[in-house]
Amino acid sequence: MPADFADRTDFDNAERGLIARLEPGVIRRADGRVVYDIDKFGQAVQGECPDTVHPSLWRQGQLTAIQGLYEVTGGIYQVRGADLSNITLVESDHGVIVIDPLISAECAAAALALYRAHRGDRPVTAVIYTHSHIDHFGGVLGVVDADTSVPIIAPEHFMEHAVSENVYAGSAMLRRGMYYGGAALRPGPHGTIGMGLGPRGSTGSVGLIAPTVDIIKTGQEEVIDGVRVVFQITPGTEAPAEMNFFFPAQRALCLAENATHNLHNLLTLRGAQVRDPRIWSRYIAETVELFGDDADVAFASHHWPTWGQDNIRTFLSQQRDLYAYLHDQTLRLLNLGYTGAEAAEVIAVPPALEAAWHTHGYYGSVSHNVKAIYQRYLGWYDGNPAHLWLHPPQAAAERYARLAGGADQLVARAREFLDEGDLRFAAELASHAVFADPESAEAKDVLAQTLQRLGYGAENATWRNCFLMGARELRDGIAPTGLTASSGMAGALTVTQLFDTIAIRIDGPRAAGTALSVLWHFTDRDEHYLMELSNGVLIHHPTRHAPQADLTVTLTHPQLLALLATGSVEGIETSGDQSVLGTLMSLTDEPDPNFAIVTP
Ligand SMILES: [Zn+2]
Repeated sequence: MPADFADRTDFDNAERGLIARLEPGVIRRADGRVVYDIDKFGQAVQGECPDTVHPSLWRQGQLTAIQGLYEVTGGIYQVRGADLSNITLVESDHGVIVIDPLISAECAAAALALYRAHRGDRPVTAVIYTHSHIDHFGGVLGVVDADTSVPIIAPEHFMEHAVSENVYAGSAMLRRGMYYGGAALRPGPHGTIGMGLGPRGSTGSVGLIAPTVDIIKTGQEEVIDGVRVVFQITPGTEAPAEMNFFFPAQRALCLAENATHNLHNLLTLRGAQVRDPRIWSRYIAETVELFGDDADVAFASHHWPTWGQDNIRTFLSQQRDLYAYLHDQTLRLLNLGYTGAEAAEVIAVPPALEAAWHTHGYYGSVSHNVKAIYQRYLGWYDGNPAHLWLHPPQAAAERYARLAGGADQLVARAREFLDEGDLRFAAELASHAVFADPESAEAKDVLAQTLQRLGYGAENATWRNCFLMGARELRDGIAPTGLTASSGMAGALTVTQLFDTIAIRIDGPRAAGTALSVLWHFTDRDEHYLMELSNGVLIHHPTRHAPQADLTVTLTHPQLLALLATGSVEGIETSGDQSVLGTLMSLTDEPDPNFAIVTP
C-alpha cells in the first residue's frame, strides 16, 4: 500500500497557523556573507516533479521548503525553514522561552526578530535544548548573550555528549558530512533536494552556553517564568542526551527529535556510533502513555506539528512500531544467519506503515538502518572467514582489473552493467576501475554516470546527496573546504578531551623512538596532569603528587586553549627542558579536511 500523493494533510499542517514569512528568506552574517538561503531552496523545488528526482523525495523537498513564523497553539510559536531545524518560542509571564536555537546565531537571531515583529519585543526568559546535537544549540548566542543569567535547561549529560560526539572523529565526520549534506551541490532537479529532515544546514556562527538546569528524571517538573513543564528523559534514542516535554496549560507536547516526519537515522551516513532502536521505540511508547490523553498538539524540532489526539496517537504509535520493527526483524534474521547486507535486502516495513508518509526513509533508510542494527550487535565482520582479511580497495581493484583482462576491459564491463540498468553492480565495477587506474577519464565517467543515476532515483535525500557528490567530485575534483571540525566548541572541552585531541594526532611510527614527560599544573582548578610519550603513544592522567617530569607547565584552562589554537604561550610558566613542547608538536599530524573518497 503506497502512500497517497492526493493526501495533502502534511501540506495543510505545514502551513497551518502561518503568521508571516521570513522576507527575504536570506540570512546574512554582519559582513554580508549569506549563511542561509531558504528562498533559493524553495524556488528549486517548485512545480511538477522532474524525472531526475524521486517523486516522494520531491514531495518531501517541497514540504521542508515551507518557511515562516507559525502559531502552533495559543502561546506557542515556531519559525520553520530558517535553518535545518525548527526554533520554538513559548510565551512566559515576562517574555518568551526559546526551545532549540538552530545551528547559527545569525539564523536564530533572524527567527527571533521575525517572532518579535509580530508578537512584541519580549525578552528571552529561558533557553531549552532538547538534545545534544548542534542544530539544536549552535545558534544560542543569537538569542542570549554568553553571560546571560536566564536559565539554560537541558537533559543531563548534555555537555559531555554535545562536545564528545564530534571531537575525536571530527575531521572524518566533517568530510563525510559534506557528502551526506550535499555541501557542494546546488539545490534543484540536478542537485540537492535538501536533507529530508529539513532543508540544509546553515553556515553561520556556532556557539554553546553550558546548561544551568539539568533534567535528570522523567516526571520532573519545572515552572519556567510561570510556564509549567513536565519532562520525559529519553537518553540513548536519537541522541545520547535527549528529552521530550509537555506543557499542561497549553496541552502541547514537544517531541524533540524522537518522532519526526521521516524514518530517522540509526547511523548517519556522515558516521557516528549506532543508536538503539529498541530503546527509541520504548521511549515513544512511554510518551504515549504519559501524555497521549492530554496532548492536543505535538511538535518537534524538525518538520511540522500534528494536531488532534487521535492523529498524535496514530503518528506516535506508527513511529514506535517503525523502529521496533526494524530492530526485531533484523535480530530475527541475524539469528537465522543473515548478514547485514542480506537482512537489508529482505526487510521492508509493513504495508500499513509504508502507507504513512512519515515512515519513509528521507533521512534514515531501511537499508542502512538494518545494516546499522547488525553492526550494533555483531560489528563489521559478517562471520564469513573469506571476508575476514580482504584486500583494501586499491589492491582489490588491481586484481579485478587483471581478472577482466585489463583496466580498460573492467571499464567496458562496468558500462555494460550501466547500460543494462544494474546500477548497483555498475557502481561496484566502475569503482574498482577507478581505483585500478585513477587517471582513466573513461573509468571516472562511467562511475560518475552510474552514481548520478543512482542519485536521481533515490527516495532518501542523504543518499541522493552522497551519490551526486561522488559524481561531482569524479568530474570536477574536490572543492576544498576551509572548515575545521568543532572549532566553535573547543572552549567547552575538558582537559582530558583536549589532551586526547593531541594524542590522536601523534604520528605513531615517527614518535615510536621518543620518550618525554610533561607535568601540567592548572592553577585555575588546582589540578595536575602527568603526560608521557612512550612507544608512539601519548597518555595522560590526573595525578595528586607532583612527580618528576622533563618539563613542568603552569597555566590555566583558557591558556591551554590558546596554546592549542594559536601556539600562544602568553602567561604560561614553564620549568625544565624547554624543548619538550616543540618536540611533541613536531610529532603530530594535521588532519586532512579534503581527503579523497571516490578516488584512491
Ligand atoms: Zn536535529
